[in-house]
Amino acid sequence: MNLRIAIQKSGRLSEDSLRLLNDCGISVKSAGSKLRTQAENFPVEVYFLRDDDIPQYVQDGVADIGVVGENVLYEKCKNVEVVKPLGFGKCRLALAVPRGVEYGSVASLEGRRIATSYPFLLESFLRQHRVEAEIHEISGSVEIAPGIGLADAVCDLVSSGSTLFMNGLQEVETILESQAVLVKNTELENSKEIILRKLLFRIDSVQAARRNKYILLNAPNDALDEIFALLPGMKSPTVLPLAEEGWSSVHSVLPEEEFWEKIEALKYAGAQGILVVPIEKMIQ
Ligand code: ATP
Ligand code: MG
Repeated sequence: MNLRIAIQKSGRLSEDSLRLLNDCGISVKSAGSKLRTQAENFPVEVYFLRDDDIPQYVQDGVADIGVVGENVLYEKCKNVEVVKPLGFGKCRLALAVPRGVEYGSVASLEGRRIATSYPFLLESFLRQHRVEAEIHEISGSVEIAPGIGLADAVCDLVSSGSTLFMNGLQEVETILESQAVLVKNTELENSKEIILRKLLFRIDSVQAARRNKYILLNAPNDALDEIFALLPGMKSPTVLPLAEEGWSSVHSVLPEEEFWEKIEALKYAGAQGILVVPIEKMIQ
C-alpha cells in the first residue's frame, strides 16, 4: 500500500517539495518527463502535476495528499483538509495599481477593471469591502494588463515586488498571505493514515532542525552562569572541561530567529571560538 503524494511538476514549489521529501529520507528523483515515480525506501508514490490540479486530485482521492500554495487551494475551494503549513512558497496575493495613480482605499476601485488569475479570492475580497468592480480573468502575465490598456488594476501574486515594480505598478492591498501547505483527502483509509503519520513525524523533525542551530563555544568557567542563562538548549547545555585549566566547552541548540542577538550577547559574556552548525534532524 502506497501513500500517493501530489507535488508540482515544474515551478516555484517543485524544488522545495522534493527537498522536503528527500530531507525526510524519502529518495525521489525530480520529475524529468515522468508523471509519477515510486520512492525507493518509503511507501510513497509521487505524482508530478500542475499546481492548479492538485486540490481537485486530492479531493477526488486520485492522490491522497498534496503540496500546494494556499492561494491555489483557497481559489479552487475544494474539500480537502489542511494538515500542515510547510514554510516555503511564501508570497501574497495583492492588489496593485499603476504608479502615480492616486489610491485612497478599496473604494477607489469601484467600477474599475481588475485583471487577475484569482477571480474567486478577488471577488470575495471586493464583496467584503462592498466594492463592485469588473473582474477580468487572465491566466498569466497579469502584470502587463494595465500597460496594454486591458485593466485599471491587477490582483496578482507578489513575493519581492520586483515584477510589479518593473511593470510600473504599486502594491496597495494584501488580499491573502500564502505559503505552501500539505493537504490531505478527507477520507483517507487507515493504512494510509499510518503512513501519513510517519511522514508527518519526519516532517516535524526536519522543520525543527531547520529552525534551530547547534552551537559550540569555549568560555572561562566564571562566565558560565551568564552563558547558561542565554542558552535554552533542548534540556540544558552540555558542558565539557577543556584541556586548559579553568575553561569549558559548552554545546547547545539555538533557535534560528534568536541567533544573531544571542551570538552577540554570548561574545559579550566571554564566549570564544563560537561554532554554529546546521542540524540535520531534530527529534523532540
Ligand atoms: P503550474 O505550471 O504548475 O500551473 P504556475 O505557473 O501556476 O505552475 P508557479 O509560478 O510555479 O505556478 O507558482 C507556484 C506557486 O508558488 C504559486 O501558486 C504560489 O503559491 C507560490 N509562489 C511563491 N512566490 C511566488 C511569486 N512571486 N509568484 C508566483 N507564485 C509564487
Ligand atoms: Mg498553476
